[in-house]
Amino acid sequence: MLIPFHRPYITEDEISEVVDSLKSGWLTTGSKCKDFERLFAEYIGCKHAVAVNSCTAALHLALEAIGLKEGEAVITSPMTFAATAEVVRYFNARPVFVDIEPDTMNMDVAKLEETIESLAERGYKIRAVIPVHFAGHSCDMDPLLEIAGKHDLRVVEDAAHILPGKYKDKNIGTISDITCFSFYANKNITTGEGGMAVTDNQEWADRMRIMSLHGISKDAWKRYSAEGNWYYEITAPGYKYNMTDMAAALGIAQLRKADSLLLRRSQIASRYNEAFGELPQLSIPAESSNIQHSWHLYVIKLNPERLTINRDRFMAELKSRGIGTSVHFIPLHIHPYYRNTYGFSPGDFPIAYEIFQKIVTLPIYPMMTDEEVRSVVEAVTDIVTRNSRGKFREEDARHAKNRNPRRLGSIQETL
Ligand SMILES: *Cc1c(COP(=O)(O)O)cnc(C)c1O
Repeated sequence: MLIPFHRPYITEDEISEVVDSLKSGWLTTGSKCKDFERLFAEYIGCKHAVAVNSCTAALHLALEAIGLKEGEAVITSPMTFAATAEVVRYFNARPVFVDIEPDTMNMDVAKLEETIESLAERGYKIRAVIPVHFAGHSCDMDPLLEIAGKHDLRVVEDAAHILPGKYKDKNIGTISDITCFSFYANKNITTGEGGMAVTDNQEWADRMRIMSLHGISKDAWKRYSAEGNWYYEITAPGYKYNMTDMAAALGIAQLRKADSLLLRRSQIASRYNEAFGELPQLSIPAESSNIQHSWHLYVIKLNPERLTINRDRFMAELKSRGIGTSVHFIPLHIHPYYRNTYGFSPGDFPIAYEIFQKIVTLPIYPMMTDEEVRSVVEAVTDIVTRNSRGKFREEDARHAKNRNPRRLGSIQETL
């Protein structure tokens, strides 16, 4: 494949940080993790950061810390990855979906209150809302927090896509009760596998830290270091979710570059927006004026009225030209587990279902060269123009011909 869907951004810098950590003789949770947590909390502007081995673990620990109980309900978006709802199932609690907004593809906050009311009528105790900042575009947090506050619900953000990101003038990670980030291989910064739970609440931070390592009440690495002692207490049946120092070392190197990595993602997004904004066969991602997008994913929606090919065919065409794409996401409610457990049908969340059939995620990552960005622009433009539907066909071809070729120039030229 010529242009893969993703390539991680790894330089000598990352390699030497990890090598340092290997040479130090301390491989698992230790001083590198402490440093990474401190630097991360400073970067976000929050009080506590707990490093763990995935965002899934962070979400699980967050729900444990806020006291989610069996049988309770947690509200989230169906347009997300498996992790967001499965952690609710770990407690034998019930994930409840609210359909998405067609433009941002985030949970439609306007529909949140009616969902809360209908759950309350059916006798559910609702514990929390998990907003997912889809593709790196913040959810509309003010009304969401207001509704959550009114109904005494905790808010745990799934911030796997958004680092760094802003809602209004606030950094994501400083807004709600607990925010969970992912450092999975393709996320905006990576530790291979890893995650971070951040909060300003000391009690929740302590609980998450203890539960991340077997419910043991003191930092494990101190047990074996010179100044530590051998004594520890198990205070709860915890989990094995700690981050290794090797991963934290990688995270430290990546965090230093988080702003420039975002800059490069934003440049690619603007180049795509510029080129694709004019194509009536598809629509480009929404971007509200009051947010700072993280551009983790660049998701276009195909317009079936303007195309003779469907989404799958479009992806196959790109693949045949060596361009990797993906689909984010197959809505949770149409997966067999959720269908069978809760009796969902696709039309239960009609917007998520309809949009799912039209979406394609194009490659966007800092390692993409200008040449590669240009190739994606040319391939997408060519495929949709060739497969333009009926009465629009000539008009679209004319449109494509009149496009200013300078617009396909390199990103560096525009800086
Ligand atoms: C990647 C992802 C997660 C899970 O992150 P891990 O670090 O792999 O556990 C959770 N939610 C969303 C929306 C994701 O994209």
